[in-house]
Order: sequence, then structure tokens, then C-alpha cells
Amino acid sequence: ICIMNMKNVKKQQSALLKKLKRKLDKERFMHTLGVAYTGASLAMNYRVDIQKAFLAGLLHDCAKCIPNKKKLSLCRECGLAVTASEDKNPFMLHAKLGAHFASHKYGIKDKEICSAILFHTTGRPRMSMLEKIIFVADYIEPGRDKAQNLEEIRTLSFWDIDAAVEKICYDTLVYLKKKKKEIDTMTRETYEYYHELNKNKNGGKP
Ligand code: FE
Ligand code: FE
Repeated sequence: ICIMNMKNVKKQQSALLKKLKRKLDKERFMHTLGVAYTGASLAMNYRVDIQKAFLAGLLHDCAKCIPNKKKLSLCRECGLAVTASEDKNPFMLHAKLGAHFASHKYGIKDKEICSAILFHTTGRPRMSMLEKIIFVADYIEPGRDKAQNLEEIRTLSFWDIDAAVEKICYDTLVYLKKKKKEIDTMTRETYEYYHELNKNKNGGKP
């Protein structure tokens, strides 16, 4: 990035931070910063666009603090389809709404950033590197402390991001099952895809 460009990037970032501070509660704002910086670190590690990862991290939960009822009505207003499982668990909609807001309210023209926001909760098979980075950063950022195996997954994320994605999906499925919470089919599909992928990568050895 050249100096002129970097100036614009910084301007855009500080304007965005100001807006997000108003839209998010304190805890969510801290989490957002954690995801942005962790995302940027992973981007350095895997040599993809650092600013894009930072921006996607900043915006990934931009719709999180909207009350659930409002999330549903906003989806209707914006013409976003709501699945039956999302209707039961409207908190899931923050990803869909967040991606929509990123492009329509925050002026993000980059499709890759919007899709990283869209899939940050469930993942999906065949994710782009940026999508994997945001999915993983959301799980491992420094403010997280509740998930099982966090230490191991944090290390793994920088060594083998596909293995980290699989492990995160696996642990999420186990957790949701234990808590008897609804499992989004996409989370399972993501797990199955990365499970197969990693198996084949290791030459079929477990
Ligand atoms: Fe989220
Ligand atoms: Fe998040």
C-alpha cells in the first residue's frame, strides 16, 4: 500500500470506528477490535490483504446489538430471506444483516469482505482465505475465554487454518448438542467439508 492510499485507509478506519462505537455495546466493541486485530494477524501469516481482514473484522458484528425482533423486521424491510431456523433463532440474522449493512450503510464495495461477514458464524464449504480468517478470528480473539481447547485452536489457526476451521466446527457442534441448542445445517456442512478435506490432505491418515 502506498502512502496516499494508507492515509485514506486510516481515515476510513477512524470514521468507521466512531460509527461502530455508537452501534455496539462496550463488550461487543472490544470483541470487534479483537477480531479486527486477530484477523489482521492471520492475514499477515497467510499473506493476504491485511486491511481487508481488518475491515471485515471491524464490521463482522455490526448488526449484533440490534434487538432480535428488530432484526426480523429489518430483514423484511431490506428484502433479505429468513429461513425457518433463523426465524426461531433471530440472533443468527446478525451475519446476514451485517453483510447487508456493510455494503449498503458502510459503503463496502468489496464482495469478499461482505461474504466474510455473511459466513462468519456458520462458515461454509470452500471458504476463501478471508472468510476462513474472519471465521477463525471470531473464535480465537484474545477476549474469548469460554470455549474448549482454545489454546490448542489458537496455535493451530496460525499453522493450519483448515484444521482450525474443522476443530472449531467440531467443538461448536458438540457444544450446541450438549446445550440442546438448534444446529444450523450450514455449520454441519462446513464441518463435513473440512473434515474430508483435511483427511485427504493427510494422505488418508487420521
Ligand atoms: Fe457474530
Ligand atoms: Fe463476533
